[in-house]
Amino acid sequence: MAKFKKVVKKKKAAVIESTAQEDEAVKKRSSSKNFRLLKGFKDILPTEKKYWNLVETKAANLAVGFDYGEIKLPVLEETALFSRSVGKDSDIVRKEMFTFTDQSNINVSLRPEATAQIARAYIEHGMLNLSQPVKLYYFGPMFRREKPQSGRLRQFYQFGFESLGSEGAVVDAQLIALANKFFSQIGLKDAVTIQVNSIGCTECRTEYKQELINYFKPKKKLLCDDCKKRLLKNPLRILDCKEAGCQSLLAEAPQLLDWIDEDCKEHFMKVLEHLDQLEIAYNLNPYLVRGLDYYTRTVFEIWPIDKTGSQVALGGGGRYDNLVELLGGRPTPAAGFSAGVERIIMLLKEKNIEIKQENIPEVFLAQIGAQAKAKAMKLLEKLQEEDIMVAESFAKDSLKSQLELANKRNVKFTLILGQKEVLDGTILLREMEGGVQEVIDLEKIIPELKKKLGRT
Ligand code: AMP
Repeated sequence: MAKFKKVVKKKKAAVIESTAQEDEAVKKRSSSKNFRLLKGFKDILPTEKKYWNLVETKAANLAVGFDYGEIKLPVLEETALFSRSVGKDSDIVRKEMFTFTDQSNINVSLRPEATAQIARAYIEHGMLNLSQPVKLYYFGPMFRREKPQSGRLRQFYQFGFESLGSEGAVVDAQLIALANKFFSQIGLKDAVTIQVNSIGCTECRTEYKQELINYFKPKKKLLCDDCKKRLLKNPLRILDCKEAGCQSLLAEAPQLLDWIDEDCKEHFMKVLEHLDQLEIAYNLNPYLVRGLDYYTRTVFEIWPIDKTGSQVALGGGGRYDNLVELLGGRPTPAAGFSAGVERIIMLLKEKNIEIKQENIPEVFLAQIGAQAKAKAMKLLEKLQEEDIMVAESFAKDSLKSQLELANKRNVKFTLILGQKEVLDGTILLREMEGGVQEVIDLEKIIPELKKKLGRT
């Protein structure tokens, strides 16, 4: 015991040391003039917007189509909510949460995931009194203090679908169908595979865990450092370790599917039958276990087809039949799925998926001289009221630089208001492609422009 305490102390000291080093680096930077992003955090710039729009609109439309109501959850919760549901031995709870004690001495954490919150909200708002299953959709940032690298951030966005109150295999299959539809709709149908497994219920897993420990114990030397630790606390996670040494031991390892009981097996068979009926291709993956404690029975992940490794899963989910009860609610079977937006966007870019740019300005409004500028500002408001997308650069005075900008923005038309036009009550309408200019009565410019834009 004393030895164990010493090891824990050493480990804690190492974590504290590395955190202290990072804190020191941040402090140094903060005292200099230039602030920089914290490690693992990202700004999402307007140039990225088309990707975010695509992911968010497709996910939100599917939520409507599949009858999921959107729930907005807070980013801060009591730490115990996550440690109890995700599991105190999981990587997330052991080392990845942003946790602090607030001014009221409450131990709080930035949410590392949302399923625990969904279960909390289901209980807190008495949703068991609604017609079941209750289907909820969310979209928002999650926080995990992982070692940042490509595809692994400390703040990342997830959207998710959760269905609470039904144990039917059809729910699991529908969630997988939903995920499949999402990836098809964003153009990644042929770029991803669906991995499926069943990890049984708590009872069948207990026996299996012991069997796994018996198998790996004599081979402990061959396991990676992480799996050596997992052997005692979380042996199932050895199955999805990506280290070559650990993987080479898997072929002979006892298979989870041989250990799950008849009910769990039957449930899983039904899920697969539904998927076959829906003609959804999947890969039966006996090593898929997911890293969170609350999962039971069906688990699944979406992987890019041509990549392997621990940072590649685009999304994942499964059944969590015990979670609501674990958090103090009535026993409520449930299942869900979440996906990581940044990783999906990385794949969209890698596969050169073409995305229609939305909200591109149709018209540029140029002005020359103080009076024209004032009139142009008023005209801009009118154009906006008519939902015409306008770009401008009122801070510029030279017509040449404004026209250059209009060209850069790829607009079809530029409106030009100069001193002469102000006096005459007219405006110039320039067609950018041919350079043809027409003088138009200022009063008539909106209907005229609408006609040219094909809007009557
Ligand atoms: P998980 O709940 O860990 O299975 O995460 C679900 C999805 O969220 C993953 O498949 C990833 O797409 C995404 N994700 C998880 N952790 C991170 C991270 N640190 N950085 C970026 N995306 C992540």
